Amino acid sequence: MNTTFLSPGSTSAPLPRIAVLATGGTIAGTASDAAQTAGYQAGVVGVEQLMAAVPAVSGVARIEAEQIASIDSKDLDPRLWTVLSQRIEALAARDDINGIVVTHGTDTLEETAYLLHLVVKTSKPVVLTAAMRPASALSADGPMNLLGAVTLAATRAAWGQGVFVAFNNRIHSARDVVKTSTYAVDAFQSPEVGALGWVQDGRVEFQRGVVRPHTGATPFSAALGWPAVEIIPSYAGVSRIAVDAAIAAGVRGIVVAGTGNGSIHGTLQVALAEAVQRGISVVRASRVGSGHVIRNGAAPDDALGFVSAGTLNPYKARVLLMLALAAGINDRTLLQAAFDTY
Ligand code: ASP
Repeated sequence: MNTTFLSPGSTSAPLPRIAVLATGGTIAGTASDAAQTAGYQAGVVGVEQLMAAVPAVSGVARIEAEQIASIDSKDLDPRLWTVLSQRIEALAARDDINGIVVTHGTDTLEETAYLLHLVVKTSKPVVLTAAMRPASALSADGPMNLLGAVTLAATRAAWGQGVFVAFNNRIHSARDVVKTSTYAVDAFQSPEVGALGWVQDGRVEFQRGVVRPHTGATPFSAALGWPAVEIIPSYAGVSRIAVDAAIAAGVRGIVVAGTGNGSIHGTLQVALAEAVQRGISVVRASRVGSGHVIRNGAAPDDALGFVSAGTLNPYKARVLLMLALAAGINDRTLLQAAFDTY
């Protein structure tokens, strides 16, 4: 796909109606000093004020704004995912709503985006956006990101592609996107595969489509609860303390942030094999940040009962593992199929 679409604001048709759901984050943050871009308070500016900073939105869409939460996304709790996904589905079910924008913190944006991509049952565009600089900063990036997100949500060509992240003019698929900088305004990338396209000056262009099933084509739901799944890294000299603690706590799953191609220190591997024997699902992901973890047919996957995460990083692998376990997918072969599919 390689088509340019004018935003609906450039036609004489009535403007699309877009729901904006605010959850907090740096985009809603303020600092006492306009030069301050760290150490500010996130999630304090209300959604009306956020929208007021982007008057150009009125040329693109009619906005219906709601405050869902006011948090720093580092403190995000899966219960908010349940609330958010249910609210998105309720809004998307309305004939007069064309798309939904969610403002969010950058810190856990990739987790929420992938979660929504897997659970919300709608073909209407759901677009997450955020900011690296607080609303009070010189050259705050939030207003332009919000305008880009609304423009994308109002674009007919965005239907049926699941959940997006619109950030710094780029359009990313929720499955691919990760935060790759602690400070830069261009903080989000889709490693290996690149962005889906871009949004700029009211124009949206897609360079490629979304390949894997999402939204209505998955068996997942945010209403089924959140099985306990921990992420445990492998590193030089790692002990088995974290695995033993996870087993003792009764977790249902463990995602290993392995080295390289999901390789695991021998000490940790013995402990994880014991976890599998106790009925805990173990998924091998990589801490590297780019690339994929391919399934090792012999050791350790088949021999020890591990599942490989493919291209999902450990945080996204945890999201999928929680959803799969909640949907009753415990069998190792079926779990591997879920990781190969979604
Ligand atoms: N520092 C974060 C951000 O960039 C705060 C958060 O994630 O809510 O949005």
